[in-house]
Amino acid sequence: MSEDCIFCQIVNGEIPARTVYEDDDVLAFLDANPLAPGHTLVIPKEHRETLDEVPPEPGEMMFAAIHYLTPIVEDVVDADATNIGFNNGEAAGQEVPHVHGHIIPRFEGDGGQPIHAVAG
Ligand code: 5GP
Repeated sequence: MSEDCIFCQIVNGEIPARTVYEDDDVLAFLDANPLAPGHTLVIPKEHRETLDEVPPEPGEMMFAAIHYLTPIVEDVVDADATNIGFNNGEAAGQEVPHVHGHIIPRFEGDGGQPIHAVAG
């Protein structure tokens, strides 16, 4: 737990969030400023800033949750596809320094960019 971390405060219930999945290691909740309906963030509950700081087991649980949740998120919002990604470190655009994966639903013709266009 890092006291001034927004996502730790969500884990502890100090800041409200719309939880979509929770287990002992992982929490998933809707992004407050979604890039698309159903935009979901998946985090390890334990505070780690970047992926290299996450121990193997909670890391595996986080990726397992992303694997499990992606088709469910797509189904719920009737998406055609998803972008799944991490802004891993400040120079990569990470704004909240608590590791999080984005599941971003995509729709045919939505005009969004593929991930490989982000840092092109
Ligand atoms: P980053 O740029 O760090 O990869 O993404 C951080 C994400 O966290 C952004 O998409 C932003 O909208 C989301 N976010 C920031 N603060 C909050 C919050 O308090 N609650 C929720 N649910 N999402 C947040």
